[in-house]
Amino acid sequence: MGKIEVLVVAPGYPTQMAVLAERYQLHRYDLADQADKQQIIKSHGEAIRAVITTGGGGFSESLLDQLPKLEIVACGSVGFDSICVEECIKRGVAVTNTPDVLTNDVADMALMLTLATVRRLVPGMDWVRQGKWQQDGPIQLNTRIEGKRMGIIGLGRIGKAIAKRAESFGMEISYFGRRPQADVSYPYFSNLKEMANNVDILVAAVPGGSETQGMITREVLEALGEQGYFINIARGSVVDEQALVALLEAGGIKGAGLDVFVDEPNVPEALSTLDNVVLQPHCASGTHETRAAMAQLVVDNLAAHFNQKPLLTPVG
Ligand code: NAP
Repeated sequence: MGKIEVLVVAPGYPTQMAVLAERYQLHRYDLADQADKQQIIKSHGEAIRAVITTGGGGFSESLLDQLPKLEIVACGSVGFDSICVEECIKRGVAVTNTPDVLTNDVADMALMLTLATVRRLVPGMDWVRQGKWQQDGPIQLNTRIEGKRMGIIGLGRIGKAIAKRAESFGMEISYFGRRPQADVSYPYFSNLKEMANNVDILVAAVPGGSETQGMITREVLEALGEQGYFINIARGSVVDEQALVALLEAGGIKGAGLDVFVDEPNVPEALSTLDNVVLQPHCASGTHETRAAMAQLVVDNLAAHFNQKPLLTPVG
């Protein structure tokens, strides 16, 4: 019997990709141009039983339509808002993701962005590099982290890890979600605008998708106010990005630390010149260790599926 055929929409860490290439017949959709993509589907669409993708690579209903023998979509990210999960489940196609293994790295990124934004790390570095220290003397003072109030939108795995870190810096935590959590002692807000009004730093850690699309509105950001900071390690889609940029430009909020954007890898032009933002290219989980662990979950979920064992991290 030939190897099981797998479509690679987006690859994972190289070590695990090598393992997958040994076990399965991989079709590198990710490396193909448009014509080759069509050819792959034409020649192998009827035989493909698994898809490997990521949050960035996604998986669309139109591609699902062309894979009648598909059994599993193994997503190498925790966020699955770019994958047609409902449709997959409706058609009996399993979906897996990579929870937990990336939590600490993403929380580290949230704290790094918080510290860098509030303590103005990048302007400080520019001050040294551009010789302003010698020319103009000491840089302007910035703001203390200790004692600041952090409001976390989405106190899940990552949100809780952010809270733990922020507490160790002496910050006060509160959170917003769809419901209060029984085992959590932080103050809960059922109204996002009200929480924004009561914190200094607002951090987004919710999943993307239609339910959370644009939930951080202009009104919410205005409630955060002129002394407030916004940190986003969730998805660009959760915030009104145009309003965010306009408020950053006008001083309507003090600063922002952003790892995610609406139209990645395109970032609003204004963000490249503002000095009250810290930007990262959606790389909160981007360490060798974590990316390898995420890719290992893809390997292990596929192995479990094809050996008729329970999936390790199923979605839905
Ligand atoms: P999680 O454990 O499922 O936590 C998500 C939290 O969001 C839950 O506490 C949930 O609380 C809340 N939530 C869900 N839907 C909501 C809604 N409609 N309104 C308000 N709150 C809602 O997920 P996680 O592992 O922490 O990951 C969170 C997200 O981080 C991922 O989905 C992904 O988008 C993002 N992420 C980004 C990166 C990056 O590289 N920047 C890396 C990893 C993950 P309730 O159910 O109580 O409402």
